[in-house]
Formats: sequence, structure tokens, C-alpha cells
Amino acid sequence: MLCRDKKLWFPSKYFLPKSTFYFILYILQNRLQNILTYQKKKIMAECEKLATCPFYQGKLVVENDLAEVLKAKYCLKDKEKCARYKVFSELGPDYVDNLLFPHMMNKAHLIIAENKKNQ
Ligand code: SF4
Repeated sequence: MLCRDKKLWFPSKYFLPKSTFYFILYILQNRLQNILTYQKKKIMAECEKLATCPFYQGKLVVENDLAEVLKAKYCLKDKEKCARYKVFSELGPDYVDNLLFPHMMNKAHLIIAENKKNQ
């Protein structure tokens, strides 16, 4: 059986019902949205200072295994919890000393409090 519209040459049985078409469209849209959200979260979580941070670049003295764990936990997943990142964003790069590591949030708070008092 040919389609009612004579301009189309293929049989109408190949047409999807409108509801199925919209359902597929809905699924695809959801998938795309999930992928975009995931990418956005990943970009937001990953530290933008990877290229310049001495800790991430391996220029600070720290045990190799510990460094890898900290990089995976802070630099690649959650920069907001990194002590170095916190001091950097609150005070600037001059206040981030080389004895400050990502897991030392208490020390970061002390540095921030001391330097904000002095300002
Ligand atoms: S140590 Fe902190 S500031 Fe340095 S790259 Fe990792 S998250 Fe960023």
C-alpha cells in the first residue's frame, strides 16, 4: 500500500506513529541533556590550575602514592575542597606556600584568617 501523499514513493507502513516519534525524540533529548550535565559537572569539578600548580606538576616533595590519591580526590574531582585552591581563590597566588597540600584545609583557614586580619 502506498502512502496517501503521492509525492512519497515508499509504503506508509514505514512511518512511525507520531507518538512513537515524539517518544524517541524525548528519550534522545534526555540523553543529550544528561551528557551535557555530566560534562559540565566534570569541567566544573576539575581544577583549572592543573597546568600551573606545583603540586599537580609534581614539583613539591610528597610521597608518590599520597600525591596520586590527592590528585585524584581534589585536582580531578573536587577542587573546591582543595586547601591550595581555597587560599589561591581567597587571597591570591602569593599566599599559597609550598608546604600547603590539598588536604590541609585547617591550615588553609588559618592562612586566610591571618592574612585577612592583616589586610
Ligand atoms: S592542588 Fe589544588 S590548586 Fe593545585 S591543581 Fe590540585 S586542586 Fe588545583
